[in-house]
Amino acid sequence: MSTMNTAGAGQVHVVDHPLVQHKLTLMRQKDRSTNSFRRLLGEISMLMAYEVTRDMPTQMIEIETPLETMMSPVIEGRKTVFVVIMRAGSGFLDGMLQVVPGARVGHIGLYRDPKTLVAVEYYFKMPGDMHERDAIVLDPMLATGNSAAAAVERLKETRPRSIRFVSLLAAPEGLAHFHEAHPDVPVYTAAIDRQLNDHGYIVPGLGDAGDRMFGTK
Ligand code: URA
Repeated sequence: MSTMNTAGAGQVHVVDHPLVQHKLTLMRQKDRSTNSFRRLLGEISMLMAYEVTRDMPTQMIEIETPLETMMSPVIEGRKTVFVVIMRAGSGFLDGMLQVVPGARVGHIGLYRDPKTLVAVEYYFKMPGDMHERDAIVLDPMLATGNSAAAAVERLKETRPRSIRFVSLLAAPEGLAHFHEAHPDVPVYTAAIDRQLNDHGYIVPGLGDAGDRMFGTK
């Protein structure tokens, strides 16, 4: 994993593990089937969960091996909340839950008002006691960064103990915008692509992540 700072001094971790990069290359291919795209996203999310949780707090518990008693570390998965930004974020969830099965899950639904271009919330549901939980926000495409920034702003109202943001692909413009708003939230991504095009798509990118994972195009 390589780590860098964006202009606003926010941290970006690029998960450059060869397995992640290989699977991402396959996902970018335009002729890849919905089935295969979804399976690869699940596999990448498991691998990314491994990096995102690298410094998760552990506590020592006493256990008995067949030979003797020892103190050994465990993580408290129930303190983790995966926050899905609907709808594409849900594709990231299954793989993450396979690695941290005890985690709680929250959802945020936002849409962009076509007239005002302001992000409007249509759904928001988090577990209780957020101040005791570490939030990991999931959205595969960090494009303009507008909805990511709005979602994290809303999430901060619940005062989680920490927040991290995980995307599969990020655009430089989106990272800069996101970190201007939230320099305290580290971003984990598999790649930083060249730029956004005039329609707000990441290029070279992989197209519309939601449509490709759900077969809605
Ligand atoms: N959302 C997507 O699904 N793809 C992009 O390239 C940008 C935003």
